[in-house]
Amino acid sequence: MSLLEVSGLRVTFPGDVCAVDGLSFTLERGKTLGIVGESGSGKSVTSLAIMGLHRDATVSGSIRVDGIQVVGAPQDQVRRLRGRRMAMIFQDPLSSLHPAYTVGEQIAEAYRLHFGASRKAARVRAADMLAQVGIPEPRRRLADYPHQFSGGMRQRVMIAMALACEPELLIADEPTTALDVTVQAQILELIARLQQEIGLAVLMITHDLGVVARIADEVLIMYAGAAAEQGPAIPVFTRAQHPYTRGLLNCLPRLDGDAQSPLIPIQGSPPSLLNPPAGCRFHPRCTERTSELPCATERPAWRIASRGHHAACHLLEANR
Ligand code: SF4
Repeated sequence: MSLLEVSGLRVTFPGDVCAVDGLSFTLERGKTLGIVGESGSGKSVTSLAIMGLHRDATVSGSIRVDGIQVVGAPQDQVRRLRGRRMAMIFQDPLSSLHPAYTVGEQIAEAYRLHFGASRKAARVRAADMLAQVGIPEPRRRLADYPHQFSGGMRQRVMIAMALACEPELLIADEPTTALDVTVQAQILELIARLQQEIGLAVLMITHDLGVVARIADEVLIMYAGAAAEQGPAIPVFTRAQHPYTRGLLNCLPRLDGDAQSPLIPIQGSPPSLLNPPAGCRFHPRCTERTSELPCATERPAWRIASRGHHAACHLLEANR
């Protein structure tokens, strides 16, 4: 059984805005899945659905964390899952750190709540977590407030808090976007190291294919609320099957350092989810569609490209 199994997930907001439309994927223990897409692709909506954090949306389909169903589960059951089995870190640490409490109090409190530990044991655990995420003088820094840490250090504090209760699944939503390149690399290395040490499964949500290229085992490319392409990272990066994935790759600086190849942005912008285009949702921006393909009228089916590698594009059928 996979640690995370998402099947036929659909998330609809009032006004009939379908932000996620029939998404399915799995994530194994100890592995990293990168979900990539522009804003409005449904990637963050998906992560909040897994955490059971949607209040005003209708969520259907199935989300199982270690076999436990999240969709339609009572709030107290989902709350128990959060923290103990799954935790989330965000782009902005200040959104999950309380400004009026010291970081020591916040990490210790989460640990005490979940494990019923004594104050002293929780404080020891908090210092240990700060040390694990590479914060110098961890015992002294327990008494500091979030604003006394730099952006990168705050991100580490948030990771320490998320991991204090030993979750099996970490959802990281754009965790490095606001950081400079050096700190970004340090945070990604930290997540990868902790993952190896404690066998954590990581769901990395990002608009940045470069981040995913560095750490993901599997990649899921989302466009306008649906999966465009999915598979093991190497085939997706080296033999991308969907024109949207190829477009994202063309926007990336070449990993082999070839400065001669120009970066080509994808023209246009993602569609409105209130009134998405008929057929393939990417068709108004696609430079590879031809008049022989039914791109404007028929939604492409999910087709296999190679073992474990799938894409939703009429070209896959036409090239067979
Ligand atoms: Fe482009 Fe057609 Fe494939 Fe959509 S189905 S990505 S429009 S070629």
